[in-house]
Amino acid sequence: MSVLNRLRDYPHIIEVAYQLTERVFQSLHPFFKRIGYERADRLLRLPEKLGKGAVFNCQMCGQCTLHFTGMTCPMGCPKNLRNGPCGGVRAGGFCEVDASMKCVWVEAFERSQKMKVYGDDIYQIQPPLNQQNVGRSAFINIAFLKHAEMPEAWQTQTGLHHE
Ligand code: SF4
Repeated sequence: MSVLNRLRDYPHIIEVAYQLTERVFQSLHPFFKRIGYERADRLLRLPEKLGKGAVFNCQMCGQCTLHFTGMTCPMGCPKNLRNGPCGGVRAGGFCEVDASMKCVWVEAFERSQKMKVYGDDIYQIQPPLNQQNVGRSAFINIAFLKHAEMPEAWQTQTGLHHE
């Protein structure tokens, strides 16, 4: 595990960074709107992949659930469960599929208990993965989810609807 990966064990710090990032991206909404949603999405994909990949082993599902999952990427689960864990967790909290790794959902729950802002979000049921969003920037969707003027075309493409 790299030094950056170890940051996941400090979810109470990462969640503050996440909250700030969310605010920054939401405030950038007018800019993204001006340059176009598609272009903004394309511009953000690489930095997001590199940044979140280094810390969370992000697989660019395009529908980030980090603050719902103890700042632990659920796509690391070999069964890709978004509302885990499965029924097969081994003794000691190890994964049923890969006994060398800790169950992603055991880690997610343990980390959520250290969080002050989003800790209870782990109890919320997550929608299934929308394959239309795989490879897209999830940051861009953070920016748009709060805005009523999200274009219908984007809502159709991503399956997302503003809150
Ligand atoms: S939930 Fe999706 S966007 Fe978030 S870190 Fe995991 S793969 Fe990346």
